[in-house]
Amino acid sequence: MRKWTWLMLAVMAVVMTACASRVAQFHGDRPEPAPPSRLAPPSDVPPTPSVAVHATSPEICFVVPPGQVSLARADSPAAPPPNAPRRPAAPPPRRPTPAIRPKPQALRLPAIAELLSPNCNERSRRAITAIVLHHTASPDDALGIARYFFNPESRVSSHYIVGRNGSLVRCVPDFKRAWHAGPSIFRGVPDVNEYSIGIEICNRGDGAEVYPPNQVATVCKLVANLAKQYGIPLAHVTRHRDVAVPKGIKVDPSNNFDFLRVIRTTQSLLGRRDLMATR
Ligand SMILES: [Zn+2]
Repeated sequence: MRKWTWLMLAVMAVVMTACASRVAQFHGDRPEPAPPSRLAPPSDVPPTPSVAVHATSPEICFVVPPGQVSLARADSPAAPPPNAPRRPAAPPPRRPTPAIRPKPQALRLPAIAELLSPNCNERSRRAITAIVLHHTASPDDALGIARYFFNPESRVSSHYIVGRNGSLVRCVPDFKRAWHAGPSIFRGVPDVNEYSIGIEICNRGDGAEVYPPNQVATVCKLVANLAKQYGIPLAHVTRHRDVAVPKGIKVDPSNNFDFLRVIRTTQSLLGRRDLMATR
């Protein structure tokens, strides 16, 4: 028994010696833990300028001139914070409604022949505020009528004559007073010749002869040009039959002349919305 006891004590002594040596070896091989890192950089390292952060930011992306301190221009908006809600995109600007404009080519008149009549005088009023349409009540063409107006003994004239083929003759300058309406009144203002332009339309005036399309087209263009040039409202385009006094003494233009259609076509040429507006 004593022999086994001594043997056990000897084994235990060997094991304890080995463990003590092992523990001492572990602690000796372990490197020293590094000191906690310093948050602030060493004093000899310059701090990173904040502009360097902005320089790589995509929100501010423009070249900085040398020597300029700030990257942000005075008029540039500040970059939004990353989590800022996005502003809704501004609606696109509304395009203004295009104004209705007359088409220059649509108002182009045929060449105007001129045979000036002596049957005219000065206007006492300078403003031209009305247009009067007539028929010639004749089988003659425009030049034939112009020759008649050219005769001082006829004592009549008009500013323009529109032929059946759409040709155009001028007999009196616009600024002069032609003798086409005679005794007349329009919208309560007498002597329509004083403030109007007279247009004769070649037609027999029997109500049977048609007004050819080319002729009507020239009438519309002429009226449109005059209305535009003098600022005449289309409500001031009238017929001799509507202004002659006494009422019923004149019947021109004849019943088969589509006056309303002429006004509508003229309105279309001018691009006006106010069909019969008055000033
Ligand atoms: Zn007439």
